[in-house]
Amino acid sequence: MDCVFCKIISGEIPSNKVYEDSDILAFRDISPVAPTHILVIPKRHIASAAEITHSDGELIGKIFAKIADIARAEGVGNGFRVVSNCGETAGQTVFHLHFHIIGGRELSRSLG
Ligand code: 5GP
Ligand code: ZN
Repeated sequence: MDCVFCKIISGEIPSNKVYEDSDILAFRDISPVAPTHILVIPKRHIASAAEITHSDGELIGKIFAKIADIARAEGVGNGFRVVSNCGETAGQTVFHLHFHIIGGRELSRSLG
């Protein structure tokens, strides 16, 4: 499949990994918008948040628990943002579900 993040998971495209297990990969965004900017993705290809179903509940819970762990480990545990752009109109450019962890600077209150 022609998916950049699947290629990162397979190792075909190198990445700066922060965490990996059998279900999840976290790596640093290639174009960070803040001192901490990490992407957390499921290894299974899910196109976007719009494709999540109830049967993905355990996986999504695991991802969010890991997001909290990573934020603490990065030293931004007391203030960070989790973002998932869903669909082109919302700014999604890579169509493999990912959660941005953004922190390490003052973040604007605006969400759009
Ligand atoms: P989106 O715009 O879909 O919400 O987020 C995609 C993110 O993936 C962007 O922040 C972009 O910088 C990042 N990205 C795209 N290609 C690569 C890559 O090859 N490696 C890494 N580490 N990040 C990437
Ligand atoms: Zn993919």
